[in-house]
Amino acid sequence: MNHSSKFASGIRVTGRSRVELRDVASLIRKTLRLEKCAKFPVIRFLEYMQRTFEGFDFEIVEKVELPKGIYAYYNPIQDCVVIDERFYALANQGNGFALWTILHECAHRILHRKQMAAFARQDRTPHKPYEDSEWQANTLVAELMMPPEMLHDGMTAEEIVEKFGVSPKAAEVRLETYKK
Ligand SMILES: [Zn+2]
Repeated sequence: MNHSSKFASGIRVTGRSRVELRDVASLIRKTLRLEKCAKFPVIRFLEYMQRTFEGFDFEIVEKVELPKGIYAYYNPIQDCVVIDERFYALANQGNGFALWTILHECAHRILHRKQMAAFARQDRTPHKPYEDSEWQANTLVAELMMPPEMLHDGMTAEEIVEKFGVSPKAAEVRLETYKK
């Protein structure tokens, strides 16, 4: 549940490169016919997952039901994304950080459900960024919310915030990876 783009906080999962995650993102955008839509509709996607992914659900709860400092998390046993009600309201108002966080939890469902559910075997040994659950979830979110074909040279962080509805921090990190 670490949402910084820095590596090394998650569990070890099957390796996936940025290119593979970009393909996953592009397939999702194609399936939902969002190729031309700059602002990824996170809440609509959450509802789409609820309708389409068998057994998956999301739940809006009061703050007291969540651990301190946590606004959303994915429960792999119940196959459910749990979201703080005020945070959910913020996402509905277009808050970039709230949207990112909710989509990040959806990314865990898409990428890591089985491995996250296997508590006993959760592997926290040193591993490469591309094998890290948090890196993978954040990378998928970045590719979904700011697809490379909609970015262009010379774009500023402010323009990215405006176009994609992400937080300033996410825009800055995206610019760094885009330049590479
Ligand atoms: Zn996470």
